[in-house]
Amino acid sequence: MRIPWNIESHLREEQVGTEVADGVYQLCSTMTNMYLIEGDDGLTLVDAGLPAHMDLLQAGLERIEADISDINAVILTHIDPDHIGLAEPLRKEGIPVWVHEDGEEVALEGLGKPPIGFFLLMWRPAFVRFIRALMKDGMGDEEPIAEVNTFTEGQVLDVPGQPEVIHTPGHREGHCSFWLPDSRILFAGDALITLDIMSGKAVDPEPVRGGDLFNFNKEQQEDSARKLATLGQVSLLPGHVDPWRGDLGELYSPAD
Ligand SMILES: [Zn+2]
Repeated sequence: MRIPWNIESHLREEQVGTEVADGVYQLCSTMTNMYLIEGDDGLTLVDAGLPAHMDLLQAGLERIEADISDINAVILTHIDPDHIGLAEPLRKEGIPVWVHEDGEEVALEGLGKPPIGFFLLMWRPAFVRFIRALMKDGMGDEEPIAEVNTFTEGQVLDVPGQPEVIHTPGHREGHCSFWLPDSRILFAGDALITLDIMSGKAVDPEPVRGGDLFNFNKEQQEDSARKLATLGQVSLLPGHVDPWRGDLGELYSPAD
């Protein structure tokens, strides 16, 4: 797959509420993913997309015969404009929003302007197309989240599906992945994605490229990839583009 030249904001019909793993549904638009985990006690939304994604969420909920009131929690892999777009609107509906404790401050204060490194990457056509697609869906219009619950490494969250928190910093300081051990489903956020956003090519799961220009800390990204590799065989649901199934231990030598 390559990022097309003229990405339109659109709903990828086939990915509006598709069951991508047991009891897990993908909501995807312009390459950015949200997921719904179905538990006995309602739904958990993993990541909150972009501000224009409310229709996508509604369409996905409809497809699985649910509605907003069935969502009992929003859990965020990290605080970036393309992962928090619906967080504050859903919080206003009374749905608690969860972030890692290292992301709390920025969640509450808002993201502000992008770092200078972001602009230094703008000579790359594929990167520009990626960013333009996100902007079409409202990147930059996201609101700070007025109130958040926080979690820490290793915590099993008391939300539908009971995902376990794996702290995977690097792309952002408070970045986390979520793990469902029984079904071996890994919500990797942007710790491992299946798209090289610098070239637009599909890749095996890898940390977001762009080094420290685009990420918080490249070395931490690599450590986090090795940490996730200790999980071995997974169904990996990334923050962007397509899921992947396989043994992460074959891609990265697991951390000691
Ligand atoms: Zn992202």
